[in-house]
Amino acid sequence: MHERLEPIFDEVVRRNAGEVEFHQAVREVFESVGPVIAKHPEFTDAKIIERICEPERQIIFRVPWQDDRGEVHVNRGFRVEFNSALGPYKGGLRFHPSVYLGIVKFLSFEQIFKNSLTGMPIGGGKGGSDFDPKGRSESEIMRFCQSFMTELYRYLGEHTDVPAGDIGVGSREVGYLFGQYKRITNRYESGVLTGKPLLHGGAQVRPEATGYGCAFFVEEMLRARGTSFDGRRVVVSGAGNVAIYAIEKVIQLGGTVVACSDSSGYVVDEKGVDLALLKEVKEVRRQRIEEYAVARAGDGATFVPGRSVWEVPCEVALPSATQNELTGADAHKLVRGGCIAVGEGANMPTMPEAVRVFREAGVAFGPGKAANAGGVATSALEMQQNASRDSWTFEHSEDRLRQIMRDIHTRCMTTADAYGMPGDYVAGANIDGFTRVAQAMLSLGLV
Ligand code: NAP
Repeated sequence: MHERLEPIFDEVVRRNAGEVEFHQAVREVFESVGPVIAKHPEFTDAKIIERICEPERQIIFRVPWQDDRGEVHVNRGFRVEFNSALGPYKGGLRFHPSVYLGIVKFLSFEQIFKNSLTGMPIGGGKGGSDFDPKGRSESEIMRFCQSFMTELYRYLGEHTDVPAGDIGVGSREVGYLFGQYKRITNRYESGVLTGKPLLHGGAQVRPEATGYGCAFFVEEMLRARGTSFDGRRVVVSGAGNVAIYAIEKVIQLGGTVVACSDSSGYVVDEKGVDLALLKEVKEVRRQRIEEYAVARAGDGATFVPGRSVWEVPCEVALPSATQNELTGADAHKLVRGGCIAVGEGANMPTMPEAVRVFREAGVAFGPGKAANAGGVATSALEMQQNASRDSWTFEHSEDRLRQIMRDIHTRCMTTADAYGMPGDYVAGANIDGFTRVAQAMLSLGLV
């Protein structure tokens, strides 16, 4: 880390005590941007780094709701509006019992640079709740979403803050959130949320965008090395929104996905994951991943409870579940098993030690800020369509997404080259994303 950044990092840790994921995300950016600080003394003079680490606004609120038996529950809601130098705060909502301020801050901090890297006019934010949607009925989910929005609505707006989904929040939840926003404000303001159902101004390809985008980004990394997905053995962690559509696109690009997972364990299906069945189990029946293996037992699929999917050898790994799910030991196993490329579908799924292992082994490593930016980029396209009361076809939207991912790949490569770190996508993404935000902050004056 650049010597000027060390005391600032220590101060971030002191001011945000116990928020370990946030510290990790800040450290990762600081380890890349030293050369930018050296080149731009005006950033130091204007205290851009100190300002960038302090959210513009942090909102924490009570979310009371009643379950189907009439019992009252109290959850905590969060929205961190981190940086609006480039546009309205933009970033998803996560409903998961592990959510606390440190997780929301790490996610929204990352979101600033990811959104900047897309080249689109969107700032960074993120939110959520420690509500656990697992096992909850449809009406309980709806009541929770309504209570959550009853407080959050006052901070949102199509020009102010535009949330979307994340873990535990898909188009069903976004639909309920939008319904409550509309009811309270008496405004059909489609641009206030993205990832909406198609009927309410949702964009084609938004559900697929993060997973598809991740596959497109890895396709570019492979192309840069003179190869492709064709015939490659691929492992994807998770079996949620990002994982399912990453799997779909990998299959379309000629790869074979042999394993995926959820928080209960993983399934191996050497003949290649049956995508229709996976969607049925996860999206329709909302069951545990074991049910997939039960249904495919005749074809040799197996379920391995409680273990990490990274023990399955593969050539391409797409961690698409959650933060810090791929350890240094996992990375060693993957490298020994012949892994040549990793694309982060999830946010910060690869632990710092594992990133080092991949870097030293020469594995192409696409960090989440670049590899999973297709979701938020397509959200920005959804905002664009809502603003013009337009809706594009699936084909056109997918073409736009593919081009955006190619552009992000090029920008990462070019920036890494320009700073003397060829092939280092982490440095390329952080430096490019950071520089654009820093310049925007400078030009807005001290606000
Ligand atoms: P999702 O649909 O809720 O799926 C999450 C998947 O990850 C599920 O299979 C879940 O298993 C698994 N998972 C969650 N927490 C886990 C844990 N602690 N240990 C093991 N597995 C766990 O969420 P998603 O939208 O796909 O998001 C996945 C990741 O992508 C997150 O890091 C998110 O921030 C990132 N991301 C999402 C988007 C987007 O557009 N949705 C965009 C950019 C980045 P269980 O069901 O068993 O919990």
